[in-house]
Amino acid sequence: MNRTKSNELYRKAVKLFPGGVNSPVRAFQSVQGNPVFIEKGYGSKITDVDNNDYIDYCCSWGPIILGHANPIIVSAVKTAIDKGMSFGAPTAYENELAQLILDNHSYIEKIRFVSSGTEAVMSAIRLARGATGKNKIIKFDGCYHGHADHLLVNAGSGLATFGTSSSAGVPEAFANETIVLPLNNKEVVKKAFDNYENDIACIIIEPLPANNGLLIQDKDYLDFLREITAVNDSLLIFDEVINGFRIGFEGAAGLYNIQPDILTYGKIIGGGMPVGAYGASAEIMSNIAPEGGVYQAGTLSGNPVAMAAGIAQLKECLKSGFYEALEEKTEYLTSRIESYAIEKGYEFRFQKIASIFWISFSYNQDIKTADGIDASSMDKFSILHSELLERGIYIGPSGYEVSFLSSAHSKGDLDHTIQAFKESLDILFA
Ligand SMILES: *Cc1c(COP(=O)(O)O)cnc(C)c1O
Repeated sequence: MNRTKSNELYRKAVKLFPGGVNSPVRAFQSVQGNPVFIEKGYGSKITDVDNNDYIDYCCSWGPIILGHANPIIVSAVKTAIDKGMSFGAPTAYENELAQLILDNHSYIEKIRFVSSGTEAVMSAIRLARGATGKNKIIKFDGCYHGHADHLLVNAGSGLATFGTSSSAGVPEAFANETIVLPLNNKEVVKKAFDNYENDIACIIIEPLPANNGLLIQDKDYLDFLREITAVNDSLLIFDEVINGFRIGFEGAAGLYNIQPDILTYGKIIGGGMPVGAYGASAEIMSNIAPEGGVYQAGTLSGNPVAMAAGIAQLKECLKSGFYEALEEKTEYLTSRIESYAIEKGYEFRFQKIASIFWISFSYNQDIKTADGIDASSMDKFSILHSELLERGIYIGPSGYEVSFLSSAHSKGDLDHTIQAFKESLDILFA
């Protein structure tokens, strides 16, 4: 494929932005080549500036669950935009999206809209601290919660110790308030509650960790987290920014039938526009300003154009059979590629749930912890990524990232993708 214009734009972008991008994962640092500049997208396909078409499994890292430029969303956005883009005063659009969510979701009673997933999580943590009067938080190695200071923290040495900051610019004093533990291990959680009795404000977890591989957790483990937080007057936060409204309308809370104290959303909730949200019981949410003492605000929060996109998208998600059809597509795609890998003896499997799948260069399909992922397998991913790209298949440029299907992916798209995978795997394992 000829990518002359993409390469040209990238050369210019490097002079404009750090690393040539406005979010690190868009850089092709861990794979071969330069980022592809996208001109447009319709349905399941995106077209780059050199006029190459790709079937898209990145879907803007999740939000595009109806495919690109979905006519229903585009029309809703056009109607809203014609009436003005932002007022800094309430609009009926905010009520409508909130009502749509709360009427169809049994795990939250009140919601607050923000503009990104990071903002939602940052606000949820402040809420947990404000509501409990406690300071420390527990997070897990292998979960991503956006780029707020106290969440850019890695596990320190030894278990149940303080974390160390994973980014320059994060003071160790902040990192000291975050305890980072391995997933799928009850003992270390118990130990943390013993060590910091009465000072753990919350546990935050991606109930279906999908930012560092797809590390599907057991219900029993999540039930345990629910239990231990309740017993210790600590809150449980489900960060559902990536799987909320994707694996089902009620996300992982619905799938596992677990009531967390606070839930966070992003990605799908805005229909491709910048929207995040956090929600909880009316009682917990009463801590938020102006009702309560936990301050959180946003000039563009609840933006009418973004709300209109979210309303249009979520209404489609609520149609009967929507999620079932997506899951069938995932199954169709992954099972055929996997059978081929098994037949050929390739060390290649998928970990998958609903419309999310992750490529794993392992025979083990039940990896549950971050350290279960073999870092050296990323070399294989890099080759697979570029072979797929050459065959018109676009997946996110990192082997730690998951892929997504949309309702716009057709059987023809899936068959084309299966063929491209087979050819690429043959080259990789030759
Ligand atoms: C994407 C993501 C975030 C951050 O959301 P942004 O909109 O990128 O700020 C936080 N938590 C999870 C689980 C995510 O997947």
